[in-house]
Amino acid sequence: MKIRIDPLDKIFSEYIRKRAIQLVGGCEVCQAGKESWKNLQCCHFNGRGMKSVRWDEDNAIGACFSCHQRLDSFPMEKVEWWRKHLGQEAFDMLEGRKRQMFPKPDKAALTLYYQAKLRGMVQNVTKLGDVNAKQ
Ligand SMILES: [Zn+2]
Repeated sequence: MKIRIDPLDKIFSEYIRKRAIQLVGGCEVCQAGKESWKNLQCCHFNGRGMKSVRWDEDNAIGACFSCHQRLDSFPMEKVEWWRKHLGQEAFDMLEGRKRQMFPKPDKAALTLYYQAKLRGMVQNVTKLGDVNAKQ
């Protein structure tokens, strides 16, 4: 089944990839540094077909092309990596949210939420840039 790209997917993906740059400066799996968030891919734990967690920030990471491909090729490794990444409790909570089919995600609210997060990030990235420039 082909999955239609929703406008919210674009905003969500940008947030996830910029978050990875802020957290580790690049790929969240291998930690390889990237100059731009655009050099990362948005990697979902549960695929986008799983609507309940399609825009859940615990369900996605910023990853480089090879880590994304590797995680998607080895499902057991992906589960273990994600469990370690989130911690058991957050991992279990994500599993719970995944099973909650109703109510459906409020796309308008999620759009506002991620847009606000992105606006906050621009300031932080600028601040980080200033710190780096002084060192
Ligand atoms: Zn990587």
